[in-house]
Amino acid sequence: MRYVFEPPPQPSVAVAGGIDRFPVRRIFCVGRNYADHVREMGNDPKSEPPIFFTKPADAVAESGAAIPYPLNTAELHHEVELVAAIGLGGIAIEPDAALQHVWGYAVGVDLTRRDRQADAKKAGAPWDVAKGFDQSAPVGALTPQARSGHPSGGPIWLSVNGQLRQQADLAAMIWSVSEIIAALSRSWALAAGDLIFTGTPAGVGPLRIGDVVECGVAGLPTLSFSVIAR
Ligand code: MN
Repeated sequence: MRYVFEPPPQPSVAVAGGIDRFPVRRIFCVGRNYADHVREMGNDPKSEPPIFFTKPADAVAESGAAIPYPLNTAELHHEVELVAAIGLGGIAIEPDAALQHVWGYAVGVDLTRRDRQADAKKAGAPWDVAKGFDQSAPVGALTPQARSGHPSGGPIWLSVNGQLRQQADLAAMIWSVSEIIAALSRSWALAAGDLIFTGTPAGVGPLRIGDVVECGVAGLPTLSFSVIAR
């Protein structure tokens, strides 16, 4: 067997404190997981089960990246999120056992074409154009759970050009990491290398060319990136 062209490089993210890399298989994302953000987007936090969408694995970007302003949008938004990295796969995982499947944690940003998302919502169309674009998933260095523990509280924040835009506590998540893994694994066979973006708190807003973003989750390395002209 031979490929008709050289396969693309394996997408991966850095592991904190060394040269190891975590190979990325898929990226799952949870929508509407903090009540204050659900309300700011005009929805009722109690009315709906978690919604899932995906990004391509090669949407990951490193901390320190200069990300070109995406094509086909005039309203690029930041969404800071806790990212859980799966190290052990499974289906129909029980919430009680779910954390055994987590390899580690990082902070990430679910970059969003908010204008295209509004179009999609209005048309009842898929969110791919709004969510799954190139370099739409900047992720900081992963910390193995053996070192970080399983964060269930503590600050999550994002600043733009030094100005705080998002600030909340992980304890405000509607669906916990355990519950998210349990729910996802009822629809997908989770596998090592899967990343899960667990939703954003309130304060999402626009990014412009020249902006420098910095964000963090308590106990994990910060993530920073800039938005540059294409
Ligand atoms: Mn999000």
